[in-house]
Amino acid sequence: MGETGTCGKCVSEISVEADRCPECGYEPRTDNKLGQTILLIIGVILTLTVVGAIIGLPLIYFSLKARKYAETQKPTTTSPDDTVSVKELIEV
Ligand SMILES: [Zn+2]
Repeated sequence: MGETGTCGKCVSEISVEADRCPECGYEPRTDNKLGQTILLIIGVILTLTVVGAIIGLPLIYFSLKARKYAETQKPTTTSPDDTVSVKELIEV
């Protein structure tokens, strides 16, 4: 016994095991519970964000790739330069 810490509110020395500060009535344990709840919520949000990113990023990547592929597959008129280069390749 006798381990002391500083009160989170009034900065007076209080026992670590004290439920509330005798000086100002600050309850560190209640605050810790609230802090834990906030940490849990942040953790859940971050987890969802990370999971969402892991699932979402490949989807974005593949959708962009598919769009690019669709563009290259368009029946566009082949430029005469391409025909020439192909001819040159065959002759060489
Ligand atoms: Zn206090």
